[in-house]
Amino acid sequence: MIKSINQVYSIIRPSLADTRLPIVIDSPHSGTDYPFNSGIIAPSEALRTTWDAFVDELWSIAPPLGAPLLSARFPRAYIDPNRAPEDIDQAMLDEPWPTPLTPSAACLRGMGLIRLNALPGVPMYAGKVSAAEVRYRLSQYYMPYHSALKTLLDDAHEKFGHVWHINCHSMKSVGNAMNVDSGVARPDIVISDRNGTSANPAFTEWAAAQFDALGYKVQINSPYQGGHIVHHYGMPTQHRHSVQIEIKRGVYMDERNAEKAEGFEQLQRDLETFVTALAGYAQQKMKEK
Ligand SMILES: [Zn+2]
Repeated sequence: MIKSINQVYSIIRPSLADTRLPIVIDSPHSGTDYPFNSGIIAPSEALRTTWDAFVDELWSIAPPLGAPLLSARFPRAYIDPNRAPEDIDQAMLDEPWPTPLTPSAACLRGMGLIRLNALPGVPMYAGKVSAAEVRYRLSQYYMPYHSALKTLLDDAHEKFGHVWHINCHSMKSVGNAMNVDSGVARPDIVISDRNGTSANPAFTEWAAAQFDALGYKVQINSPYQGGHIVHHYGMPTQHRHSVQIEIKRGVYMDERNAEKAEGFEQLQRDLETFVTALAGYAQQKMKEK
């Protein structure tokens, strides 16, 4: 196993001679290291709820099976790699952004590239955010993360002619007022492919069926359809399949105390079963080509 680590991300991968699976795993919301002088005033308990707790650890089963795992080390509440770089609300900034901005619906709920609120009614900043600061976060954190992800995906695609990319997240057991499904209890797992455009929908169905067979309640493209990362990298006509997998935190952790709970090890074993099955699925699909 080889581990590369810097201030932006860590990559754990099988030894170079042993990258034997056309599978890439990424965990963009696993970071907890807030850079110095970020201007963030939200209390740490509120910030902690924005963290995809233990997701990188859950999926650390993948490298020993032959697939690299990329994990962000900076928090998504600092800058969110799962948003487009233009997904900014101009009203948050101290000066006009020089190029056109396209704030998404999530951004207007406070969850864009730069987060407005940690939780409903809990602001991230005391005032406006400097545009220069946003440019710094883009160039020093966002871009390097994307560049590392693109390299892993391109390397796998070049070697195998295909890549299956799992973009990993966790979700609160019940959505809050900043979420599209406020107040609704969520299923155990949500798998999304931008409504069949970031992966072959048959692959998404296959993935959902694996978790269903393991006893999880699974939904596809509801309440999430997938974020910027799967949208940006998934190109199923070029044998590049990207799906987003959200796991409900109540399955594996105590959300109040942000601690692992009893279900953690079972879930980790089930993810190992899933990645093993995915390796077989990928071999089969590559033969059919
Ligand atoms: Zn996430």
